[in-house]
Amino acid sequence: MILVTGGTGYIGAQVVLQLLGHGQTVVILDNLCNSSRTSLERIARLGGRRARFVLGDVRNRAQLDALFADFPITAVIHCAGLKAVGESVREPLRYYDSNVGGSITLCQAMAAAGVFTLIFSSSATVYGDSPRMPIDERCATGLPTNPYGFSKLMAENVMTSLAASDARWSVGLLRYFNPIGAHDSGELGEAPAQIPNNLLPYLLQVASGQRDVLHVYGNDYATVDGTGVRDYVHVMDLAEGHWLALQALMGGSGVQVWNLGTGQGYSVLQVVDAFTRTCGVSVPLVFEPRRAGDVAQCWADPDKARRELGWQARRTLDDMLRDAWRWECRLAAQHRPILYTPLLQGFWRDGLLRCVAHTAAIGFTTPRSAATARWQGCRSPSSTPGTAPGRTAATPSPWPRWSPCRSPHRRTAPRPPVV
Ligand code: NAD
Ligand code: UDP
Repeated sequence: MILVTGGTGYIGAQVVLQLLGHGQTVVILDNLCNSSRTSLERIARLGGRRARFVLGDVRNRAQLDALFADFPITAVIHCAGLKAVGESVREPLRYYDSNVGGSITLCQAMAAAGVFTLIFSSSATVYGDSPRMPIDERCATGLPTNPYGFSKLMAENVMTSLAASDARWSVGLLRYFNPIGAHDSGELGEAPAQIPNNLLPYLLQVASGQRDVLHVYGNDYATVDGTGVRDYVHVMDLAEGHWLALQALMGGSGVQVWNLGTGQGYSVLQVVDAFTRTCGVSVPLVFEPRRAGDVAQCWADPDKARRELGWQARRTLDDMLRDAWRWECRLAAQHRPILYTPLLQGFWRDGLLRCVAHTAAIGFTTPRSAATARWQGCRSPSSTPGTAPGRTAATPSPWPRWSPCRSPHRRTAPRPPVV
């Protein structure tokens, strides 16, 4: 049986699903500080089997001891942790406590229980502002730019020292680049409890009308279009990497480091454009100054994972965006009250006056407003824009076709030269 800490969270849930798909039995430990039990139902539906669930905290040694006593655990995948960069700057002790303290307590409990196989959810943030691109595992870890990054690096160091001290340990440090997307069924994905910090969840909330505009942080980087470049990797590909890493670690010894990325970088504007093209929904954006602590670019050399694990990201950026949008639409539909119709969306969001003016301007039957276009896009993420869910392009839709709105694009800063 495999213990997945943080297994109801965004990445952990996909990992659990992956393990269930390979016939493993799984127990999840999660304190639900950033997830909910709903994930368990979704996992059960998609996986055809249930994972066991224990509500608990990785910092609680007594709980961990009881867990290892109650279940025949042979390996641990440690996804539990806090991950909001901005929050880590405001509350560093909470981050060190959870991400470093929690990892230490978990390792202590594992050793006491005689379990020595561990996979850790690490991050490309440990490379800091690397001068070398793409980044391979031989690149030195750098100076992370925030307490979250430090907490990941510190946890890695704890595990590395531990493995050096005792040959029974077999530890895999998986350095994720930028996981995005959702399960391709649209049934399992990220459900941010707070204002999203990361690009894609924020973009999705703008596209679905929950937020007005995407703030693009910096358009003067020395990148293809001036905006930050990252290596986005589909969360299902990432989950497959965990399964392969687990098999490679079983019976081994020492520490193995693997980058999990695609090897391909995309700028913020390339992601936005790909989203509009793939999902048929335009995203209003405004340029802002650079975000403190951001690096200009970061993408992986994933060759080591390919050679040693046989892992390769298979899904494209378009796949990631399409799956993420499908999930976002499901979430949005769940949370919309019945009166939140396309016509009234502007009313609820922007007030009666704007809605009346808007309706007068566009008429009642031509859903061309940004809000309506978004709504219609939201109705049909997996089919042709303007078709209702379950219909295909061949089945005429009762909904008029829409065209992407253009006016909300507020590119307030001049585009930098292409370098
Ligand atoms: P998430 O917040 O969705 O999932 C983390 C889960 O851990 C949540 O369910 C939360 O309730 C649980 N948790 C947090 N603290 C806990 C504690 N002390 N005890 C028990 N449970 C606790 O985040 P995610 O995106 O799924 O990330 C999973 C891991 O991957 C994290 O460690 C994160 O640092 C790392 N990571 C994430 C990204 C990313 O972009 N999402 C990138 C690199 C690394
Ligand atoms: N970004 C942005 N607007 C946002 C969130 C992110 O322009 O609302 C940019 C950010 O500056 C970076 C890229 O998108 O260039 C990826 O940011 P994210 O936080 O998703 O990943 P990370 O910076 O942690 O790799």
